[in-house]
Amino acid sequence: MVPYKHEALTDFTKEENQMAFKEALKKVEGELGKEYPLRIAGEHVFTNEKIISFNPANKNEVIGFVSKTDRALAEKAIVSAAQTFESWRKVKAEVRADILFKAAAIVRRRKHEFSAYLVKEAGKPWIEADADTAEGIDFMEYYGRQILKLKDGAPVQSRQGEYNRYSYIPLGVGVVISPWNFAFAIMAGTTVAALVSGNTVLLKPASTTPVVAAKFVEVLEEAGLPKGVLHFIPGSGSEVGDYLVDHPQTRFISFTGSRDVGTRIYERAAKVNEGQIWLKRVIAEMGGKDTIVVDKEADLDLAAQSIVASAFGFAGQKCSACSRAVVVEDVYDQVLQKTIELTKNLHVGDPTHFQHTVGPVIDQAAFAKILNYIEIGKQEGRLNVGGIGDSEKGFFVQPTIFSDLEPEARIMQEEIFGPVVAFCKAKDFNEALMIANNTDYGLTGSVISTNREHIEKAREDFHVGNLYINRGCTGAVVGYQPFGGFNMSGTDSKAGGPDYLLLHMQAKTVSEAL
Ligand code: GLU
Repeated sequence: MVPYKHEALTDFTKEENQMAFKEALKKVEGELGKEYPLRIAGEHVFTNEKIISFNPANKNEVIGFVSKTDRALAEKAIVSAAQTFESWRKVKAEVRADILFKAAAIVRRRKHEFSAYLVKEAGKPWIEADADTAEGIDFMEYYGRQILKLKDGAPVQSRQGEYNRYSYIPLGVGVVISPWNFAFAIMAGTTVAALVSGNTVLLKPASTTPVVAAKFVEVLEEAGLPKGVLHFIPGSGSEVGDYLVDHPQTRFISFTGSRDVGTRIYERAAKVNEGQIWLKRVIAEMGGKDTIVVDKEADLDLAAQSIVASAFGFAGQKCSACSRAVVVEDVYDQVLQKTIELTKNLHVGDPTHFQHTVGPVIDQAAFAKILNYIEIGKQEGRLNVGGIGDSEKGFFVQPTIFSDLEPEARIMQEEIFGPVVAFCKAKDFNEALMIANNTDYGLTGSVISTNREHIEKAREDFHVGNLYINRGCTGAVVGYQPFGGFNMSGTDSKAGGPDYLLLHMQAKTVSEAL
């Protein structure tokens, strides 16, 4: 087996890659408006009621009509998943891994097609879409290899006259609730992690991006995933999500999304319902209020570039996005000015066109929420650039910078999930770190500094799950920078890391007297 290596990103400066991507966009445009079925108990199920997926850059364009799960269908799916678990848990780890490797190969061959769906359905600019697809491939390649490392358990001692073995076995039925912001990577990653660990899965993708998920389910089928192992159940959170979270046959929930929904799932999952014989496990990846700290001894151009890329990449709709820049006062004005200049060069528009590096936000609700925070920002600080939105055709918000914020300001504390960054001045590096840590979250953070002592201090005291030094705070790579945060950012799980699969398993000790 070749060692794991992350999937290379596409070089769009090459004409042939641009052409190939345009071809893929054309192919996807020709497929828009199709109907997609659920997968329940191995059957394709078409329902009358549909989730309609729109292009957020062009509200009139329907990406697809996806069947919608109701409670009766959810019940059917979970009963089937519980039954199939009895056979799937005994399938050898190698066989499960092979399905992931095959699926990765299929997606790799159709890479631009998947990315084109992300452009259309999630409003991702090309480069962001390409990275999303690549990350999904990485998850399959990485977790496939990880299960091969875990399949024989971990070594334990045996005394004379006994033989002890310690192994990891799957949990049971998992409910995977995936987000729209990495509509391919996180959807695929959370699903395959659960599957390859030997669990059966009910996948409920975000209602704004169900088509790319449906496409992935087709790939897993083509790769040979047996019927009934994965159930595809798009539907509403209140009708289907709650029902499955509460269900006594649900063994674990793997959720990525907002803090509000994550907290709600965690609370509901804690209740032991009638007929339930375990404590449910919750793997939750929630929000962030991520900070780039700029020291006075620092490459200020790097600082500005890192802030712009991390704040406005995918219109700030990443839980890793930089939404606060905390700059030591000696260089504050310079960094702010440089960041404003770079931001003015960004092109907002329909991401179908390569030159549009900032696309729309996901939907009307997100648009309204972001504009509301912009109004709050105007009260709390100084608006330097952006501050306007246009929802005529799609949901576009101009990259927005506010400066001179107090650390306690709402736009310094609350997750906005849009292209808005707040600047705050610190009197020195220590104060900058204190402001950075002053949040309920603890996901990502960056330090831009050339001062070794300060870098070492940040290493110890900047309390985030993913700390980056002299680079931006987004773009963790599977297997290289395991991703996940502290405090209200989630359950301290690390996607794409060496212990991630263990969250989907339980350990069993067998001791035989000889
Ligand atoms: N893993 C992504 C990154 O490092 C962020 C994932 C998310 O926003 O949920 O940028």
